[in-house]
Amino acid sequence: AKADPRQRAWVEVNPAAVEANCRSLRRHLCESCALMAVVKADGYGHGALTVARAALQGGAKSLGVATLQEGIELRQAGHNAPVLVLGNLTHSEDLKACLHWQLMPTLSSMREALLCQNLADGSGRQFRIQLKIDTGMTRLGCELKEAPMLVEAIGHLNQLELKGIYSHLALADGDLQGKAAMVTDQQQQHFETVLRTLPEQHNGFTRHLANSAGTLRDRGLHYDMVRVGLALYGHSPNLQLQGKVDLQPALSVKARVTLIRDVPAGVGVSYGHRFTTRRPSRLAVVGIGYADGVSRSLSGQISAIADGQLLPQVGAITMDQLVLDATNHPDLEVGSIVTLLGKDGDACITPQQWSDLSGSIPWEVLCSFKHRLPRLVI
Ligand code: PLP
Repeated sequence: AKADPRQRAWVEVNPAAVEANCRSLRRHLCESCALMAVVKADGYGHGALTVARAALQGGAKSLGVATLQEGIELRQAGHNAPVLVLGNLTHSEDLKACLHWQLMPTLSSMREALLCQNLADGSGRQFRIQLKIDTGMTRLGCELKEAPMLVEAIGHLNQLELKGIYSHLALADGDLQGKAAMVTDQQQQHFETVLRTLPEQHNGFTRHLANSAGTLRDRGLHYDMVRVGLALYGHSPNLQLQGKVDLQPALSVKARVTLIRDVPAGVGVSYGHRFTTRRPSRLAVVGIGYADGVSRSLSGQISAIADGQLLPQVGAITMDQLVLDATNHPDLEVGSIVTLLGKDGDACITPQQWSDLSGSIPWEVLCSFKHRLPRLVI
């Protein structure tokens, strides 16, 4: 697809990159380890349906979402791969909908298990669920010491089918040595301790622990499945893990020049006049701003790429527009396309670069692009 010439800004999504990333990840896993594509938050801003299709094509066996609605969206689009809801569903109507749509909820307590059993009883259907154990994230999941009892109890709830036991790593994206290594190792030990206590007859479930960082840092964290988000979209969770698997970014953010201004030296630009031209300058006004997801905290720190050339962004980023210094690009004109994030020629701007500047993380950068930016699948 090509951008509508009237479109001021958009997100370009390349499903072939997601598919290729899945294939690369699959090669990194052993035969018996499955790949779950985490497509929550609208596929980290890429479009959940586009990404789910590409990931399954690339060898992912299941999908992970955060909310009931995200799971239903996948089912309504015709995906029948296993779907795990990673967030906690507390309301019985939501769990009932899970049963109806064949989505696996994540349970952290006996209360939730009994709720599911009652719902399943009422419908005469088996309810596939997964149990989460908190090994050190201190968010969702049951206490370590409760886990064996919960597994045992779930085994006696005959309408429940325990399809997975899992936990989540808190520091896997940190350094390969030091505290991050120590905490990750400790979480793994806790996970193994629980697995060892489980009765033999319950071994039909999938054991999983690793996110992207866990997947890339240590094969010992893989177990029966890995839940991959960030790497699926082509980004490494940290510099040390970069290059472990060949990954291609799947998303670019592009916008059009809407006005060219030739101004003298000494002119204040945008709100607050945070930037003043030091020489006669050619400024390009671009139709994208913080209401589209280009954080105001990046003001004056980023560049955009035009025809492979980096043009500095100057002055405050405003709600719908920003200004580039295009003095060195005399050919830039109204309607020219600039790349805010992504690759153009030899130049490339990554979510990591933005997040380093704004004190954020690449995950947040990817999820920050608003629906005002249409997703253009290329
Ligand atoms: N598993 C769970 C429980 C998550 O919450 C997430 C995302 O936050 C992931 C896996 C995927 O993480 P990542 O994007 O770091 O691969």
